Amino acid sequence: MSKVATRFAPSPTGPLHIGGIRTALFSWLYSKNQKGKFYLRIEDTDKERSKDEYKDQIINSLKWIGIEHDGNEYIQSKKIDDHVKIANELLKKNYAYKCYCSSEEIEDQKKRAKQKKIPYIYNRKWRDLSEVDAPKDIKPVIRFKSKIKGSYILKDIVQGDIEIENDTIEDFVILRNDGTPTYNLCAAVDDHQMSMTHIIRGDDHKINTFKQIQIYEAMKWELPSFAHVPLIHTIDGKKLSKRDKASTLDDYSKIGIMPMALRNYLLRLGWSYKDKEIFTLEESINLFNLEGIGKSPSKLDMSRILSMNEHYIKNIDENDLFGQLNEYCKLFKKEIKQDKKDKIKKSLTFLKNKAKTLEDIFNNGQYIINDEVNYNQEDVKLIDDKARKVISDFSTQYEKIDTPSREILEPIINELIKSHATNFKGVGQPLRIMLTGSKFGPGIYDIILSLEKEQVQKRLTIKIT
Ligand code: GLU
Repeated sequence: MSKVATRFAPSPTGPLHIGGIRTALFSWLYSKNQKGKFYLRIEDTDKERSKDEYKDQIINSLKWIGIEHDGNEYIQSKKIDDHVKIANELLKKNYAYKCYCSSEEIEDQKKRAKQKKIPYIYNRKWRDLSEVDAPKDIKPVIRFKSKIKGSYILKDIVQGDIEIENDTIEDFVILRNDGTPTYNLCAAVDDHQMSMTHIIRGDDHKINTFKQIQIYEAMKWELPSFAHVPLIHTIDGKKLSKRDKASTLDDYSKIGIMPMALRNYLLRLGWSYKDKEIFTLEESINLFNLEGIGKSPSKLDMSRILSMNEHYIKNIDENDLFGQLNEYCKLFKKEIKQDKKDKIKKSLTFLKNKAKTLEDIFNNGQYIINDEVNYNQEDVKLIDDKARKVISDFSTQYEKIDTPSREILEPIINELIKSHATNFKGVGQPLRIMLTGSKFGPGIYDIILSLEKEQVQKRLTIKIT
């Protein structure tokens, strides 16, 4: 077979779903693994539901997670003439026919199927009728003449052999009566014209595959291979839908999940390689194969996404982490002034300790980012007379220090613990509240050393109660 070519073919009728991203990731990784090509095809033939805003969101989502396509985006609506041409060719070769059923007739057939509780399938009325009998006032649709006899076995790379009785595939419409082509025709024509070798897509397209294969066969085109990826379910085992809260990439990026972490998580969601969990991009490309895709649906688990993100936060180079934080702030308009950026960068060693997301890092660093402290009123209530005395004693000692360091601060704090007959918390907590506004946060030495000396002095003497 020719050089591997795969594609991702989303319809811009809504924001790109996490399941779609995973399908794109698998297609992309497979093409990279095979040193082939990966294309992006925007299936925008449904003019009413397709929106530029969704197209942009799809392109941005792929970019964000690091999936790059070869060449320009292929815009399906620009190829309509080719689709119509093939529909007419199929008609000429007697692989398709004009159907003059009125919409009332079709509705009636649907209603009857519903009453009998059987799936609706067009009754193939016009398959053998002569056009001489055609009603003059009805514009026909063009239907594909599906096989009726026998069965077909699809050799699916993921699911193995899937056999279907041919008569369960209806004579599907390829050209509507307004002359516009339908999805199955467009997809088959485009996949052929784009020389696709592997069609990797969601499980929900299996029936479409049987339809598209028939178009390929009728046109005597070389068939690509197919891999149907099981869908992603929610944690309670339900089909993930666009209405689910965490279904688009923005839902993850806005809470500070990093692209590399989500990419690693999605790779492992339904694909495995031995018992390896963490994959660098290079390893993902080198090790990815279609055989490793599991046959059953996978469950989207937020707690695992968070721990994957936490793993990356703790383990990547701090310069990279700072880069990721900047990207996140830029994307979500969270400002860190230039003069504070250096401080945040230096403080990442400890700001990242209790963080699962970039948002956590941003929140943990608020006391550095803002000149004015935002005091948690509940925590402020913890500053009683005893605590006030600790704070003022510390202040007096702190003022005498030229260049604060951990070595200098430690004996001072230890001395205060002794003289106030308290423990580490008895000293650390009031100081933390004064300096950051909250009783939670980084260790007290890290906090003191990450602020300017004047800032510490000012915050320790501020009147907050
Ligand atoms: N436009 C189709 C969808 O978004 C893609 C089908 C395909 O991959 O062939 O579901």
